[in-house]
Amino acid sequence: MTIDLRSDTVTRPTPKMMQAIINAEVGDDVYKEDPSVNKLERKLAEMFGMDSALFFPSGSMANQAAIKLHTQPGEQLIADKWAHVYNFEGGGASFNSGVSCKLIDGDRGMITAAQVEENINPPDFYHSPLTSLVCLENTTNKGGGACYNFSEMEAIRLVCDNHNLGFHLDGARIWNAMVAKNQDPKDFGKLFDTISVCLSKGLGTPMGSVLIGKKDIMIKAMRVRKVLGGGMRQIGFMAAAGIYALDNHMERLEEDHKRAAEIAETLSNQSYIKKVEPTETNIVIFYLKDDISEENFLTSLLQKNIKISTMGQGKLRIVTHLDYTDEMHQKFLNTLNGNSTDIKNFKS
Ligand SMILES: *Cc1c(COP(=O)(O)O)cnc(C)c1O
Repeated sequence: MTIDLRSDTVTRPTPKMMQAIINAEVGDDVYKEDPSVNKLERKLAEMFGMDSALFFPSGSMANQAAIKLHTQPGEQLIADKWAHVYNFEGGGASFNSGVSCKLIDGDRGMITAAQVEENINPPDFYHSPLTSLVCLENTTNKGGGACYNFSEMEAIRLVCDNHNLGFHLDGARIWNAMVAKNQDPKDFGKLFDTISVCLSKGLGTPMGSVLIGKKDIMIKAMRVRKVLGGGMRQIGFMAAAGIYALDNHMERLEEDHKRAAEIAETLSNQSYIKKVEPTETNIVIFYLKDDISEENFLTSLLQKNIKISTMGQGKLRIVTHLDYTDEMHQKFLNTLNGNSTDIKNFKS
């Protein structure tokens, strides 16, 4: 038994999801003739109360398309220093859209309205790049699954309105935020101009993300997706997995959150742990004590068939998900507690 806690993307489709995939009605989506894709896009647009939605192969591509839709080359977007759009999309913002990023030193990946306001370049000062877009991430990835308070996002929306800025949400894990904070997707739809959501993270599909947005912005989304190489043909098989996941895998995210909280709690009681970040959803970020070797720690876990992620600078990450069972959870907690192991002998 391998316990893979590196990411919530390591899941495999359940037998019922496979059935939904096999039974999907499909057509050529580049002609907009795939009924399953059309159904998924309608479903998500309605869920968020927005005008339109478009299926993308990946979350990165959906975010990159959004950046392109909101900006012109030479302009600047504002995001937290840990933002996925800046750190983990291969430099796409500059490669695809020719925009620079003004990075804000936020709290666990979250920024405030005051920080956004301070970092807008004055539009008549032609020496600096024109600020045109604000990107938030909810939940945050590198920030350890932290979720915004709704009031802060509303305050940022006001700043965007006052300065005529686009407002995009990287909602790869928006499902986790909505479940953790009991939020309504329609409220998000009212706040943002565009929202990207991932079906391949907590919801457990093999692939697929959707960009949801206002009509006047989304009008060029098909063209941008085509340019990025994201036009797909009989992709309804994957859209059907998405529909199945939205109907069946949303509520169970609570279990992921509960297990993550138990892991965080167990970690914080261990002598070899320096710090565990607050755990609000399905991501646990923690640091080892300075005299503990990260390599030894990871190797020792690997010997027990347990995989976790390292994010650099001593930051370790655990992500709970659909394929992480109760049996695995008990075994992992026992391992951390050292009941069944020599896990405390990590000193470098
Ligand atoms: C995973 C993720 C994405 C998209 O990633 P893909 O692997 O391209 O689907 C975007 N934003 C955040 C915060 C993510 O965690």
